[in-house]
Amino acid sequence: IGRLYRQHVSPGQWAAFGLLGLDRITVDHAEDVHYVDRSGRRILDFFGGFGAMALGHNHPRLLAVRRGFQDQQRHELGLTLPSQYVAALSRNLAMLAPEDLDRVMLYCTGSEAVEAAIKLAERAQGPRRAGVAYARKSFHGKTIGALSVTDSRFYRGRFEVLPRRRAVPFGDAEALEELLRRDRGIGVLILETVQGGAGIVLPPPGYLQRVRELCDRYGVLWIADEVQCGVGRTGRFFAFEHAGVTPDIVTLAKALGGGKTAISAVLARRDLHDRAYGGTRGALVHGPSTFSGMGEACCTAIETLHVLHDENLLANAAEQGDYLLARLRGLRDRHPQLIREVRGSGLMAAVEFTDISASFPGITGLLAGVLDRPLRGSVAMLTGSQLLSEHGVLVGFTDYNRNVVRLEPPLTVQPEHIDA
Ligand code: PMP
Repeated sequence: IGRLYRQHVSPGQWAAFGLLGLDRITVDHAEDVHYVDRSGRRILDFFGGFGAMALGHNHPRLLAVRRGFQDQQRHELGLTLPSQYVAALSRNLAMLAPEDLDRVMLYCTGSEAVEAAIKLAERAQGPRRAGVAYARKSFHGKTIGALSVTDSRFYRGRFEVLPRRRAVPFGDAEALEELLRRDRGIGVLILETVQGGAGIVLPPPGYLQRVRELCDRYGVLWIADEVQCGVGRTGRFFAFEHAGVTPDIVTLAKALGGGKTAISAVLARRDLHDRAYGGTRGALVHGPSTFSGMGEACCTAIETLHVLHDENLLANAAEQGDYLLARLRGLRDRHPQLIREVRGSGLMAAVEFTDISASFPGITGLLAGVLDRPLRGSVAMLTGSQLLSEHGVLVGFTDYNRNVVRLEPPLTVQPEHIDA
């Protein structure tokens, strides 16, 4: 596999795991919270596709749904003819959402949903209020529209297609108010409810309530990007539920497919949606993509919602998330010189190490041989490779903060995995 990768696969598709030497691992199969490699070694998956593996790997009920599609001649494309699967999934999502959010659009990826959400909001606001505010250290995807609100010069380069954008610090309601008061052209705000790419940054208490108030006062539409933190990750189906407020538009992806398929959704307030895409002519402006609402993907998503319910996985996410944080805080208390902070919400957790590269320049030198310039000096990568090689645990990183290890295990995780 390694040889074929080096020969044919664009390095951009594997540089991230190549840096860690993970390109040497050949996965034989994966089951629940584990990968198993060719030699039978079990690797505990606390990376979880940045939150995509909600039900763990290969949940038997998702496998059964997919077998049903393979064995029978079911109707697949949601594009051309009415699909009972699109109808049912849209209804189920609307039932889970607060009552205003009952218009559903289905796509395949998070980036696609983010772009559809921004487009919908801009159209609902009209050209004079089409400016978009977004947060510092946001991550909303790598396609060009989503990149326009992703606050990373490294990823974005010169790809900025939205005509008017303004960044505000995440969690700072005063800065947001200042912007909205000053710039009435801003009619849209997009925020990750919990910032994932930034290194798991939680909204400070009271922040989302203030966001709701400010958006109401200044007539701004709030898009909650829950591609990573939604679908139960934080112990509630939507992360915004913790704050008791409702955004105008929500994006979901990743975990919606149970880790088994690519599916994303935009949930929007009916009045906004109809303002943006009213009438048949308006509706045709933003129809489905070819593979929006594929039967197999919809049924996998519907079954994912059922399994979340039947196996009580939101409660498990909350309970195991508390346990994970408690254990990590124990480690922090024992090693305050090594661990700066532990934080999280449900099973979206981060360990932020102190920047030991400053006190031990040798470490940076050591890494310099292994890592390319943008990632050099990454304490998280060093820690992560150590975790993998010594303990068989796979964790996530972020380019925004190289001292952060991200932990996003499947929602099926049990205390013994956390102990390990
Ligand atoms: N929004 C958020 C909050 C994300 O974390 C991501 C992916 N990490 C995206 C959007 C983009 O999703 P996708 O990779 O499926 O395009």
